[in-house]
Amino acid sequence: MDRSDVLIVGGGIMGSCTAYFLKKELGYAGSVHVIERDPTYAEASTTLSAASIRQQFSTPENIRMSRFGIEVIHSLKERFGADADIGFREGGYLILASEEGRPVLETNWRIQTAEGADIVLLGPDEMGRRFPWLSTEGLALGAFGQSGEGWFDAAMLLDLFRKAARAAGATYEKAEVAALTRAGDRITGATLSNGATRQCGTLVLAAGAWSGRLANAIDVPLPVEPRKRTVFVVKCPQVFPGMPLIVDPSGVWMRPERDLVIGGWGPGEDDPDPPAHGDFEPAHDEFEAHVWPAFAARVPAMEQLRQIRAWAGHYDFNTLDHNAILGPHPGIANLMFINGFSGHGLQQAPAAGRAVAEHIVHGGWRSLDLSVFGFDRILANAPVRELNVI
Ligand SMILES: Cc1cc2nc3c(=O)[nH]c(=O)nc-3n(C[C@H](O)[C@H](O)[C@H](O)COP(=O)(O)OP(=O)(O)OC[C@H]3O[C@@H](n4cnc5c(N)ncnc54)[C@H](O)[C@@H]3O)c2cc1C
Repeated sequence: MDRSDVLIVGGGIMGSCTAYFLKKELGYAGSVHVIERDPTYAEASTTLSAASIRQQFSTPENIRMSRFGIEVIHSLKERFGADADIGFREGGYLILASEEGRPVLETNWRIQTAEGADIVLLGPDEMGRRFPWLSTEGLALGAFGQSGEGWFDAAMLLDLFRKAARAAGATYEKAEVAALTRAGDRITGATLSNGATRQCGTLVLAAGAWSGRLANAIDVPLPVEPRKRTVFVVKCPQVFPGMPLIVDPSGVWMRPERDLVIGGWGPGEDDPDPPAHGDFEPAHDEFEAHVWPAFAARVPAMEQLRQIRAWAGHYDFNTLDHNAILGPHPGIANLMFINGFSGHGLQQAPAAGRAVAEHIVHGGWRSLDLSVFGFDRILANAPVRELNVI
């Protein structure tokens, strides 16, 4: 198809959710065409993610988006059919704070519970009782999600949205977009790496960590770049009953994955975190430097762990404020962003895809007002900072 009403660049979870909501849930009558360079998704953030969902954010809109994510997970069978299953485990997040981090955790908890999130604050004694394998050394408080938080299989979720989008009439093409094409204040389409062109009414930029480069090449300053994050898989000599996804004050996180544990480390504001264009080599040094010491300190029985393997993926990192960039460009009205999720995009994809689809169909925000994540803030250099970035 050389011309489509909506052309979506990137068929990962963002592109596929947008196509799904347009064609299936909103009944959009126009043509929706998705260009995806790699249908195996070998380097896509979606399939390389830790596939977890939480409600513990500091920005109300992020909580609302993830709450819709949970709603979708709980309604898979109604949406996708009786066989739909993504192996969801509602294990909760346990975000830990030292005395220094306590005020932020308490402030976030107030915001979260005001949004209806089922989060409780636990002191060290209570955490020790609930999670007897956990060391509470140096902890002042923990925030635990009693429901609505957990993990699942990301590839299965992508598969559900992709198949349903296709069944509802969206088309997918295996091709690489070499460049977007722009004529003044309109996007006219895209040029493929084989030289062919595709025209469009509206272009949705859903190329994940690669979106910044495509936008910057047409003078749109989208502050999104790939930042490498490594996930380590370890085997422990014992299991830890009821283990949630734990976020340690050191920046290390861990969660169970069947009889194994996976985890990783996120660099702080002052740590080096260069753009990782094309680099998928796991950062093995992070294991000795950060991950293993934090695992062993927080769960002493993990001192005996054995590393099984590691993989690396790219965060679609928004360098301005680590938050989504959503909706139309204020000056190029037929360019839609769905970018910059910085490590929490998978869980927000249903809400983000629905929001962008609603914008295309209705010309504005509908189910959720997500104007806080609009591109105007990028142009105004006015960050909307999310404090809970993992
Ligand atoms: C290690 C790691 C852990 C994470 N953990 C979580 C988590 O626990 N929970 C959570 O919610 N989120 C998590 N995330 C973030 C989440 O995975 C992403 O925010 C989300 O998957 C982004 O989806 P996307 O569709 O924008 O990007 P992608 O899945 O990367 O999809 C973009 C697609 O665009 C295609 N593409 C790119 N350029 C072109 C082009 N020029 N032409 C054609 N196609 C192109 C790519 O091939 C790719 O398939 C994690 C990410 C990583 C890396």
